[in-house]
Amino acid sequence: MSFATNLRCRECHREYPLEARHVCDFCFGPVEVTYDYDGIRKNVSRETIRNGPASLWRYKDFLPCDAENAIDIGAGFTPLVRAKNLGKALGLNNLYIKNDTVNPTWSFKDRVVAVAASRARELGYDKLACASTGNLANSVSAHAAAAGMEAVVFIPHDLEAGKVLGSSIYNPTLVKVRGNYDAVNRLCAELAGSYNWGFVNVNVRSYYAEGSKTLGFEVAEQLGWRAPDHCVVPIASGSLFVKIRKGFEELYKAGLIDKPSPRMSGAQATGCSPVAVAWQEGTTNFRPQRPNTIAKSLAIGNPADGYYSLVQLAETDGACGMVDDPEIIDGMKLLAETEGIFGETAGGVTVASLKQLAAQGRIHPDELTVAFITGAGFKTAEAVAGHLETPLEIDATMESFEAAYRAPVAQGVA
Ligand SMILES: *Cc1c(COP(=O)(O)O)cnc(C)c1O
Ligand SMILES: [Zn+2]
Repeated sequence: MSFATNLRCRECHREYPLEARHVCDFCFGPVEVTYDYDGIRKNVSRETIRNGPASLWRYKDFLPCDAENAIDIGAGFTPLVRAKNLGKALGLNNLYIKNDTVNPTWSFKDRVVAVAASRARELGYDKLACASTGNLANSVSAHAAAAGMEAVVFIPHDLEAGKVLGSSIYNPTLVKVRGNYDAVNRLCAELAGSYNWGFVNVNVRSYYAEGSKTLGFEVAEQLGWRAPDHCVVPIASGSLFVKIRKGFEELYKAGLIDKPSPRMSGAQATGCSPVAVAWQEGTTNFRPQRPNTIAKSLAIGNPADGYYSLVQLAETDGACGMVDDPEIIDGMKLLAETEGIFGETAGGVTVASLKQLAAQGRIHPDELTVAFITGAGFKTAEAVAGHLETPLEIDATMESFEAAYRAPVAQGVA
């Protein structure tokens, strides 16, 4: 059983039952799941969580579906790594990486889909669908496969090979749309009106969004039940960015951590930077963009939670990094070379933004800072392929090895 009570409009606070609804009938504001926090406080302790499974279902009491019947392929409870080497390179003394590359389909989207797919099935849907920038399609396809549900996933036509294959392997109906993500999303909003399917980020988006909170829960638990001082989070629609903070706030409401006040900073690619640009201009009214960046998983030009992201940046004294494609590639390489973590282009955006914000003095050297690496690098191999050293190639002899090893310059390994 779940402690979820209602859906509530973020704008006018009207309440609705826990149905498949993502906007308010009266003001078209987004609706959000509310919980019985007194009930949670009475039933949940650090101990009950510690004794739970090593997955996001250890936080089941904060989630809007029945964990007993959830679709569970092992999402969540990923490592929080003390990043001494990267910290040293950036002048940050207290830096951690939340490594969400190691989820079942290698991105944080397994968190949102675990919750959305479980809730969609509870609501009676037998088909799962989504509009995706790539990672979501992978995760919906995998969860549907495990649940024995049909999947119909929509992606922009020009995604990386790894993102396409990473869906196809689970054998969904995969639909490449000739258009960018914003066009895919518009199409899915229209389809959701005619097809009685669980579109995880359209008609069941309010449940989907709850999955992202578990990143906040885990970080707090892994830090010994405290919120960090500063989080750096990549922004696409802005949902992840907003929900990580909700995670800390809910732990506080449940009496599990002291009052959290993390500064929340964002990370965007220059080629798709509606939030970063609006933040620089000091406004909460962003202008939609037509994306053009190698960070395809973040390429949402008209972000659904862009406004709330900008409000949160202002409320928490956060900043928003903005980095171009060469900086993204350098960020991917820097993370790999310092911490042994191969993040995708979105990870490059996060690390490059971390570097930028640290250099600008917006992250203080001693703040306990957590950077969220949300997807794995093998899915976006194209981005770095031409930017890495080539291997030494030798005959299977000692002489050949030694000649090659001693003369790296001659091998083009300057
Ligand atoms: C989807 C995604 C994000 C951000 O998602 P939001 O839409 O802002 O919630 C970040 N990183 C990766 C790798 C993603 O796939
Ligand atoms: Zn409303």
